[in-house]
Amino acid sequence: MAIEKPQWKELFTEVVTSGLCTGCAACIVSCPHDVLDYNTADGAYKPFHLDIDGGFDDCTHGVKGCTMCTRACPRFRNWESEIDTHKFARERSDDEVFGIGDVFLARATDADEQRAGQDGGFVSALLIHALENDIIDAALVGGLEGDGSTWVAQPQVARNRADVLATAGSRYTYSANLLAYPEAIESGAERIALVGMGCMASAPGAMQARKAGKIARRLSLTIGLLCSKTFDDAIFEELFEAKYGVTRAEISKMNIKGVFQIWTHDGRFIEVPLKEAHPFTREGCTHCPDFSAEHADISTGGIGAFGDWTLVIVRTDFGRDLMAKLIASGEIETRPGDDDPGAVALLHKLATLSRKRWPETAPDGPRRIPVSIR
Ligand SMILES: Cc1cc2nc3c(=O)[nH]c(=O)nc-3n(C[C@H](O)[C@H](O)[C@H](O)COP(=O)(O)OP(=O)(O)OC[C@H]3O[C@@H](n4cnc5c(N)ncnc54)[C@H](O)[C@@H]3O)c2cc1C
Ligand code: SF4
Ligand code: SF4
Repeated sequence: MAIEKPQWKELFTEVVTSGLCTGCAACIVSCPHDVLDYNTADGAYKPFHLDIDGGFDDCTHGVKGCTMCTRACPRFRNWESEIDTHKFARERSDDEVFGIGDVFLARATDADEQRAGQDGGFVSALLIHALENDIIDAALVGGLEGDGSTWVAQPQVARNRADVLATAGSRYTYSANLLAYPEAIESGAERIALVGMGCMASAPGAMQARKAGKIARRLSLTIGLLCSKTFDDAIFEELFEAKYGVTRAEISKMNIKGVFQIWTHDGRFIEVPLKEAHPFTREGCTHCPDFSAEHADISTGGIGAFGDWTLVIVRTDFGRDLMAKLIASGEIETRPGDDDPGAVALLHKLATLSRKRWPETAPDGPRRIPVSIR
């Protein structure tokens, strides 16, 4: 019997056109023949194949045996248990709804990192520590284009403290940070951190589990962002401006805490009910089962009673080692997750809700939640 070598043809039908594709861009940056590109027009956020090399639904390199895109895709076939087994040496149990790991609260002790950070500035502190202590050469992060006044999220490379602080904070439109990978390796980076929501945070684990070459080795640290959805760019004009009279250039900061919170440069504060924002949900998020960035080394979020702290889930030995170093150096302070039982309960609830989005008709994929613990 011939050995199956799944390639773009299978990825296209099983993930891209089936509704499972999140637009994470892992297939694009792992393709050794550069025949995949990214479509951001009209909020598509989907990969497409260049026609010259096999048409939109097949690939001449795939026909000859290249399987790199399916090895990299964190939504292809039995991705969850493959990545769990690779990263944690076991599959998760039924009650590990937000994945494998221990919950803490943490925040940066540096005032600039705290100020720039979305919650406790923990992610910024971690990146700065890793860059300044020869743990990574670069980080793939999500900044804003130009001077930030358009609020168009953009994948960027952070190489130092200034880059990290300039790209801190959260944007709630999609930034496929993996797309900054070519720029990072052009500058000679070999040990690269990826910051990203669950969809992206599963990519390095998929690549490593399925031996996707150099990129799998280079993406050596993954920092996850808790996430239930991102929004189409149209939300700025069609909701924030049309109903609340706030233009992109007027916005200084945004957050989501039960409502969409918007601060403006001239001191206004506007709350937009989430139900008004839901119609702008990005299509790639509708079937996403991963609220908690379950395959990151360390996942981070902003839920809970302590607004200026980051909720942190430490998942791997590498993540535990980094946490210990940050605590020992005094760059972060921590408190146990038990200090905020409401946050842990909410984490459980939101993770459960997201996992129910995985379509019943989809093959394999994430473990279904037993009815007894829903
Ligand atoms: C789209 C999105 C949705 C989120 N939803 C939730 C949620 O529902 N519940 C929850 O608890 N937490 C959510 N978070 C996580 C939360 O907003 C914070 O990012 C997290 O708590 C870390 O805070 P911090 O102060 O430690 O990070 P910071 O020090 O501020 O660092 C944040 C990092 O995130 C990167 N980043 C910012 N925006 C994007 C983006 N759009 N795409 C990719 N990378 C980006 C930045 O470049 C930076 O490296 C979400 C984040 C994002 C980006
Ligand atoms: S989920 Fe990511 S890797 Fe998979 S097809 Fe979509 S963009 Fe490519
Ligand atoms: S819900 Fe968040 S993690 Fe899931 S696909 Fe959307 S952006 Fe990615």
